[in-house]
Amino acid sequence: MIIIDGSEGEGGGQVVRNACALSLVTGTPFRISNVRGKRSKPGLMRQHVTAVEAACAIGGAECDGLAVGSSDLAFRPGTVVPGEYRFAVGTAGSTGLVLQTILMPLILADAPSRLVLEGGTHNMMAPPFDFIARTFLPVINRMGPRVEARLTRHGFYPRGGGRIEVDIMPAPLRPIECVERGALLSRSALAMFAGLPFEVADREIVTAKTLLDWPEEAFAVRQLPEEQGPGNILLLEAAYEHVTEIVSGFGQLGVSAEQVAKRAAARMSGYEASDAFAGPYLADQLLLPFALAGGGAFTTVKPSQHSLTAADIIARFLGRQCVFEQSASGTHRVDIR
Ligand code: ATP
Repeated sequence: MIIIDGSEGEGGGQVVRNACALSLVTGTPFRISNVRGKRSKPGLMRQHVTAVEAACAIGGAECDGLAVGSSDLAFRPGTVVPGEYRFAVGTAGSTGLVLQTILMPLILADAPSRLVLEGGTHNMMAPPFDFIARTFLPVINRMGPRVEARLTRHGFYPRGGGRIEVDIMPAPLRPIECVERGALLSRSALAMFAGLPFEVADREIVTAKTLLDWPEEAFAVRQLPEEQGPGNILLLEAAYEHVTEIVSGFGQLGVSAEQVAKRAAARMSGYEASDAFAGPYLADQLLLPFALAGGGAFTTVKPSQHSLTAADIIARFLGRQCVFEQSASGTHRVDIR
C-alpha cells in the first residue's frame, strides 16, 4: 500500500485523481491522509468524490473514507472493465477532471469504452472542454490510442448541466517526443456567453484586440442558448503544426470583462513569446500519459507546482522519474526516465 500525505507539494485534488488513475493501472492500493491539505477548505469536495466513484466503477475498486469533507481516503483497485459508463458530477463539478481520473486506465484496457459525463464543461481551475478536445487529446492520440470527445451541452459554474461524450479506442501508449511546436497555423479569440448581456463578451473581445497583435478576423463572439447559462468564457487559441494551446479566461462575479481578457491575453502572450511545446496546464496533464508510456520528452514553460507534485506521485507508483531541465532559452525540457 502506498501512503501519501495529501498536504505535500501542491496539496490539492490532483493528487487524488492521479493516485486513482495510477492505482487502477498498476493494481497498487493507496491511502491519502490530509486530503487537499493545502486548501482553505480541506478534504474531498463533491467533484473529487464523483471522480473517485468513477474510478471505483470502472476499476472494481473499494474505498474507505469516500465522502464529502473526508480527509482520509483508502483505495483498493480491482480489475478495470471497459464499456459504457455515465457519470454525473452534480451541480457544476468539472467533467474534465472526472475524465482526467479514468481516461488512462480505460486507454490501457483491452476493449473500447464510451463515456457520458454530465456537469460543468467550462469550470474555473479545470480544463475546459475545448482544451481537452483540441489541446490535450491530440497529443494522446499521437501516442497510439484514439480518443474522441464531443460536447452536446455547455455547463458553467454554478449551474452545471453540461454534457460531454467520449469514445475511447484503447492502445498501448508509445513514447513520443514533443519538443517543437512547428509553424503557426492559425489563431482565434472566442468569447462565449449564455444568459448574460452581449456586452460582457464584447468587452472581452475589444480588450483582447488591443492586447494581442492578431488579425481582425481572429476575434469572434458566440451566444449560446439562454438555458445553458449564466456563463461566460474567453478562449484564446493558437494552433501550431504540432500543438494547439488554449488559454481561457473565466467570467466571474466581481472581475470585470476587461480584467478577464487582460489576464488571458498576458498568459497567451507569454506562451507565444516562448518556444515551449506545452503551456503550464498541458504540462501537468501530460506527465501521467508520458510516464505510463515509459519514456518520451516534451518542452514546457516553467514547471508548475502541479507538475512537480504529479511527478512525485508518478515516482511513487511507477518508479519513473520526470526530469526537468532548463535550456538556455528558458524553456524546460521534461524527460521521462
Ligand atoms: P483543488 O480545489 O484541490 O485545487 P481541484 O481538484 O479543483 O483541486 P487542481 O488540483 O488544482 O484541482 O487541478 C486542476 C487541474 O485542472 C490541473 O490538472 C490543471 O492542469 C487543470 N486546469 C486548471 N485550469 C486549467 C485551464 N484554464 N486550462 C486547462 N487546464 C486547466
